[in-house]
Amino acid sequence: MLNHVSANYLSSKACVRADANGWGSYAVEAIRAGETVAAFGGQCVSRAALETLDDGSAAHAVQIDDDLFLVAPLTTVPDDTVGHSCDPNCGIAGGVLIVAMRDIASGERLTYDHAMTTGCDFNEFECGCGAATCRHKVTGHDWMLPELQLAYRGYFSPYLAKRICALVRTGAERRAFAL
Ligand SMILES: [Zn+2]
Repeated sequence: MLNHVSANYLSSKACVRADANGWGSYAVEAIRAGETVAAFGGQCVSRAALETLDDGSAAHAVQIDDDLFLVAPLTTVPDDTVGHSCDPNCGIAGGVLIVAMRDIASGERLTYDHAMTTGCDFNEFECGCGAATCRHKVTGHDWMLPELQLAYRGYFSPYLAKRICALVRTGAERRAFAL
């Protein structure tokens, strides 16, 4: 058992601290675009198994495939504190890594958009992130929004990137039919 170490990883260039959202991860030094800032770890479970968890850990799960979720054990100070923003500075690489999408200055809060990882309704929520582009309600269908597909190109979880490719292909076929 490795339960004495955190299930998730956070770069030494960031730290977790309490904030208006509960907890957040903040850069403590400059982070360059492309750098890995955090990684999700934990137990891999199906949606059915996720719904049997009654300790609150399901709310922190991250979806990594159509029916697979990574769940980290809950700790007093949550270690999966790279929170959601509708105008994030980080994206997803390889399904479990959080990488900087742009240069991040010391003091900035690290965020990614749940639209990059979530493809079902297991964790929909009202959003008050304050971004000019805030969607106000974050759903399991947000990955289908064309403006997000464009903005987060290359930063979606691979299973969602595959779905987006399939959508684009179907759309192109429909357009070809209409000609
Ligand atoms: Zn928002």
